[in-house]
Amino acid sequence: MSDMQQGERSPVVVIGGGPAGLTAAYELQKRSSRHKPKVFEGSDMVGGISRTESNNGYRFDIGGHRFFTKVKEVEDMWHEVLKDDFITVPRLSRIYYREKFFDYPLKLFNALWNIGPYESMRILLSYFKWQVRPYRKEESFEEWVINRFGGRLYMHFFRSYTQKVWGISPKEIRADWAAQRIKNLSLFKAVWNAISGSNDTTSLIEEFQYPRLGPGMMWERTAEIIKEQGGEVHMRSEVVKVNRKGNHVTSIDVKHWREDGSAPVMERVEGDHFVNSMALRDLIHAFDPPPPPEVVAAADKLRYRDFLIVTLVLDHADPFKDNWIYIHSPQVKVGRIQNFRAWSKEMLPDQNTASIGMEYFCQKGDGLWNMSDEDLRALASKELEQLGLARATDVIGAAIIRQPKAYPVYDGEYRAALDTLEEWILSLDNFQTVGRNGLHRYNNQDHSMLSAMLAARNILGEKHDVWTVNVERSYHEEFEVKKPTPEMKAALAAE
Ligand SMILES: Cc1cc2nc3c(=O)[nH]c(=O)nc-3n(C[C@H](O)[C@H](O)[C@H](O)COP(=O)(O)OP(=O)(O)OC[C@H]3O[C@@H](n4cnc5c(N)ncnc54)[C@H](O)[C@@H]3O)c2cc1C
Repeated sequence: MSDMQQGERSPVVVIGGGPAGLTAAYELQKRSSRHKPKVFEGSDMVGGISRTESNNGYRFDIGGHRFFTKVKEVEDMWHEVLKDDFITVPRLSRIYYREKFFDYPLKLFNALWNIGPYESMRILLSYFKWQVRPYRKEESFEEWVINRFGGRLYMHFFRSYTQKVWGISPKEIRADWAAQRIKNLSLFKAVWNAISGSNDTTSLIEEFQYPRLGPGMMWERTAEIIKEQGGEVHMRSEVVKVNRKGNHVTSIDVKHWREDGSAPVMERVEGDHFVNSMALRDLIHAFDPPPPPEVVAAADKLRYRDFLIVTLVLDHADPFKDNWIYIHSPQVKVGRIQNFRAWSKEMLPDQNTASIGMEYFCQKGDGLWNMSDEDLRALASKELEQLGLARATDVIGAAIIRQPKAYPVYDGEYRAALDTLEEWILSLDNFQTVGRNGLHRYNNQDHSMLSAMLAARNILGEKHDVWTVNVERSYHEEFEVKKPTPEMKAALAAE
């Protein structure tokens, strides 16, 4: 397989076995026989937030995970790994608000019908008002949305849901999040899409790909390939320390948790290069010696939003056809509801039942997070009934997964903090950080993977800025990573 003996391969330590960590290892192995990736994953499952959990044969995601990308190399890797195991799924999703279902993406006549002529007129007037006199500066999510959709539509369709997702006022969320999430959609464009049937914006994708057994299938297969090719993937292996001498990282300390519950074993693992995908805040606290105090203070400013899913099994087939429904109504706590059969029939062992994921946005340690599993099951069943989707007595099973650090928060402090962290991490000569929480960026799998691919290529001598993935490039751009030109290389070397 290589021109060198296995023992001579340069060890590359990868922290985290989610999409980013596994992609870094996969890409490295694909391009180099001189390196040996060693992945250390703290939990007992690969895939990170993109894993697939299961309970009595019912498989479910941590939220539904669509596979959609404009990045050719990501798309290529998905197909290289999963081959025929991808299915194409038509997207159907709606918004539930004021006891009515609104098609999403917006369908003009459905929206007008639901909202009524009087309110529709007010939405339009408000839109024109804000077009004439917009906010001069778009710093918050609220200002960004109002400038594009008007105050009235914002109040109906953005305010309460955003508040649910983030648990803070949309005034406190930076406009960056809207720009990343909603991209260049506006009321005008949304209406035009509805009339013309065209659709060109990230959040409005009409069909998507999905591994037939859920996203975890992708990451389980990737881990197998890495191992088949001589790489290592260590499970239950939590990285607790990143040791450095000045700006050079020398090793990590790993706590290997035992499956049988016996005392964990510590190990020091040396490496020539290091790629991290654990959350930035945790990473900074793992460095030994610690970074300068201002860097530690910056890490402490990063905040996260947590998430939990209560997957209910019903004694009858799907109560609705949608893949998922956004629940804007403030009367219930649930934020989004998944219907896993609409993603793939193979997610359910019994087609006479339904598997419904009730998604709650929360904060670790708050009332929801701390609720017992029985109480969560009761709450989710009650809310499903309250929404008229099924009776609480139809529920015959439930599984609950709590996911800490599901979302990096874009609040007023994060940008400056991130700049400080980026600067310090870039000063390390053999250490890179990638992924979603590894970059504190609202990245989907594709951008988490792209940053990891670029990190792997940097190890092989290319020069890519992983910190700009999903920042400067437009999602609509057909983007393929190019090798740097000699001029670019010279310019980077001179920096
Ligand atoms: C509700 C929800 C819905 C989503 N929907 C989609 C979607 O439809 N499509 C899409 O493409 N993306 C979606 N995403 C985003 C997607 O989940 C992420 O982009 C992706 O999982 C990020 O990959 P990652 O490897 O960077 O991080 P993670 O998935 O967070 O993986 C990091 C891994 O590192 C491990 N780890 C952490 N600390 C340590 C440590 N100290 N030692 C060892 N291991 C450690 C963790 O256990 C984890 O396995 C969604 C996310 C959420 C929350």
